[in-house]
Amino acid sequence: MLSVIQNPPRIALPIAGSGDLFPVRRVYCVGRNYAAHAREMGADPDREPPFFFMKPADALQIVGPEPAPHTYPPQTRNYHFEVELVAALAGGGSDIPVADALDHVYGYAIGLDMTRRDLQDEAKKLSRPWDLGKAADHSGPIGALFPASAIGHPARGAITLAVNGEIRQTGDLADMIWSVAEQVAYLSRYFTLQPGDLIFTGTPSGVGPVQRGERMVAAIAGLGEITLDVV
Ligand code: MN
Repeated sequence: MLSVIQNPPRIALPIAGSGDLFPVRRVYCVGRNYAAHAREMGADPDREPPFFFMKPADALQIVGPEPAPHTYPPQTRNYHFEVELVAALAGGGSDIPVADALDHVYGYAIGLDMTRRDLQDEAKKLSRPWDLGKAADHSGPIGALFPASAIGHPARGAITLAVNGEIRQTGDLADMIWSVAEQVAYLSRYFTLQPGDLIFTGTPSGVGPVQRGERMVAAIAGLGEITLDVV
């Protein structure tokens, strides 16, 4: 049987230090997973269960070791950075116990959950879905994947984002409200997780707008950094 259009390309993350690739299936994202960020968004971090949204896999922007141009999206005047640890699943299933969850994680990358905050805020106000705010083209810049077999499962360490050399977001992976293992377990109660799924695990406080002409450097201890020039 012939496809009537060309097959859309499957996005794949490069594996750090090798020529291998990790093809991506779904991209799950957790909201408000660092207490200080939950507070800056006007929420109470102590009483909310985790919640998730999705980004289309083809909204990922693969970023190599060199600075990469990042296209400012249309229809926003308040485009925000959110630096996040991204977990990549090589296993999956349903109703995964927390104790087994990390066995399903292949590795980790630095990601940015870029957000048209004005559109997200409007959606929140009107009780509408977040897609226009969260799923812009190129809104998921992501670096190379570091296998857990090489670096382990990072549970602490600095996570930062700088704009034009000035640190704007800073946190520690240890300050996640819901750990990577808990996020995998929780999601698996609602979806059958599959190899190729990514989870953006939340952002520390300090989110803010970025403008054309500015440089973002996102860094996570043990995962290096990625650099984006907003154009
Ligand atoms: Mn986020």
